[in-house]
Amino acid sequence: MINVTTRWKKSGFYFVISLFIIYLLSNLIAFQIFKYNAIERIATFQHLNHGRYDKISKDIEHLVSRLSLTCDKRDINIIRDFASSSNNIRIIQLITNHKLCSIYGKKPAVTDYYSKKKAIQSGKLSIHNYTNNQLIFNYQINPKSKISVVSESIDPFYINHMISNENISIFIECNNQKLKLSHNSGYISKLYSFKYKLDNGYTLVISINEKGINNIKKEYLYIFILLGIICFLLCLAFALNHDKNKSIQQLIQQGLNKGEFIPYYQPIINSKTQQLVGCEVLVRWKRCNGEIFPPYLFIKNVENCHLIYPMTKSILQQVLADFTQVQVDDNFCASINVTPQQLENPQFMAECINIIESQKTHCPNIALEVTERMKFTDIDKAKSVMTHLSDYGIKLKLDDAGTGFGGFSYLQTLPLDTIKIDKMFIDTIGTNDMKRDILKAIINFGHETKLEMIAEGVETQQQVDYLAKKNVHIIQGYLYAKPMPFCKFKQYIKQFSHN
Ligand code: C2E
Ligand code: CA
Ligand code: CA
Repeated sequence: MINVTTRWKKSGFYFVISLFIIYLLSNLIAFQIFKYNAIERIATFQHLNHGRYDKISKDIEHLVSRLSLTCDKRDINIIRDFASSSNNIRIIQLITNHKLCSIYGKKPAVTDYYSKKKAIQSGKLSIHNYTNNQLIFNYQINPKSKISVVSESIDPFYINHMISNENISIFIECNNQKLKLSHNSGYISKLYSFKYKLDNGYTLVISINEKGINNIKKEYLYIFILLGIICFLLCLAFALNHDKNKSIQQLIQQGLNKGEFIPYYQPIINSKTQQLVGCEVLVRWKRCNGEIFPPYLFIKNVENCHLIYPMTKSILQQVLADFTQVQVDDNFCASINVTPQQLENPQFMAECINIIESQKTHCPNIALEVTERMKFTDIDKAKSVMTHLSDYGIKLKLDDAGTGFGGFSYLQTLPLDTIKIDKMFIDTIGTNDMKRDILKAIINFGHETKLEMIAEGVETQQQVDYLAKKNVHIIQGYLYAKPMPFCKFKQYIKQFSHN
């Protein structure tokens, strides 16, 4: 109970921490929202206006090349045409040799009320702020001629319903000179800025102050609520999953402590001599209420929480203790299932040998069988451990041969004595199943390499007869007997020795 409370407290703590992190990152998140929004607006604006500030200087050069610079009727018409056909230019005025002309004819179109000090100077071109967030481009054609062009306002791209203009400032930057585009009157305290590169060497620098960021946070509150909910769900999932894993692990650990994992024994018979030649040890979980669970219900969990090591040791100890109660032939072999990882673990195998050593007097031959369905991670290590086990006299069997990863490479690399032919192939006997050919290949391979073969999952006499014809006589299957607890297996063994 204490553990459960601690676990939930831990998840609650993680939740509080994640909320705190969201709070710490909230300005950054709000700024990213603003940036994303602003970039989209600039891109749309640029697209709609064919690159407002990118093109103006080129447009001016183009215009100048067409003018005769006399301010005659033709020049006025060209200026008017140019302004009306351009998306970006509102006003054009030319002063040349003390003559003036503009889109209004011979009248001036540009007021002089703008700051000429603050400017971006780039060759013959100087750019200044003009009224209403517009820019004025003054182009000095020659010492006596100057053309002034007023661009359309930049307004549409920064006017945004979520932040008022006073919280944003926009600069246009070129050759390390900056010109403010927006006339914000607000107090710009802490600023968050980003840059947007235009063509022709111009860059827009867009900044937002803390008040603007706070406005975005209010506007996009739902995003922060959503983040909070996601964190809550993740912490909940973590707590529940942790809870589930832990409780399974705890149950298995409790089962181990109480000795609830017990060996069942399935006889292995020589069909030729009808003698009992061994057994496979198959674990069962006998709960305190008497319920018996087969391995498929728990073995994966036992492996996942690494409790397979104490479980195998406990099974080995019980098998050795059981066999002190019966007399078996010298060639009788009890086969215990192990995982590839266990066979790669020299320390674990040394512990198993110690257990066998401690019961040596009444000990039957012991074999370890490893399934081909799971992969070895370090085949060289496995080989060295298995060689040591083999030298000690422990037989090594490849279980479920033909179904998994290793195939013939395991058989060639590892010091195996026996292959256990999987039920999947035995089931093909008497059918037209394509896998029949694999069965034949496995049997041929077994004979060629002089490996012992055990046919597993044999259920019919027809299968026994077929296998006998193929010189496979060692049989394990329901035809002879199902796995049984030791009290029954003891009787089974006795009944055999009477025959
Ligand atoms: P396995 O090693 O392939 O064991 C053979 C399985 O086939 C056993 O299932 C056995 O009861 C079943 N069987 C044998 N003859 C027949 C038959 O004629 N017909 C049918 N339908 N089934 C037959 P069981 O006992 O449920 O074990 C399932 C698996 O659990 C085993 O497959 C083995 O991979 C694993 N297992 C069992 N005990 C242990 C253990 O102590 N350690 C480890 N690591 N795995 C174990
Ligand atoms: Ca097996
Ligand atoms: Ca098997």
